[in-house]
Amino acid sequence: MPQPEGRTSVRQVALNEVVSREANERVDPPAEAGWDLSLVDRVCECGDADCEARLRLTVAEYEEVRGDSRRFAIVHEHLVHAAERVVERRERYSVVEKFAEAAAIAEAHDPRG
Ligand SMILES: [Zn+2]
Repeated sequence: MPQPEGRTSVRQVALNEVVSREANERVDPPAEAGWDLSLVDRVCECGDADCEARLRLTVAEYEEVRGDSRRFAIVHEHLVHAAERVVERRERYSVVEKFAEAAAIAEAHDPRG
């Protein structure tokens, strides 16, 4: 059955993004010197459960995104207007911030509390 528009789909988008973020949390940073400036593969944290796009962020860039529970790193074109807005557009990725219900879900599922 197709998802109804509105509340439910926004919720699903937010939950999909939480799953992607949890996958990224399991990526270990490389241990050598300058590790925070090395590029690490991350999965796109957009709301599409089937998205397999990869992003390359430095550890420092990713930590900056993760400093706010409501923020996610995604491929530019994967923005879901109903659930989030772009707060920063970088060369390799966009940083989006959830609003309303999507933000509450993102915060409730933050693996870092
Ligand atoms: Zn994506």
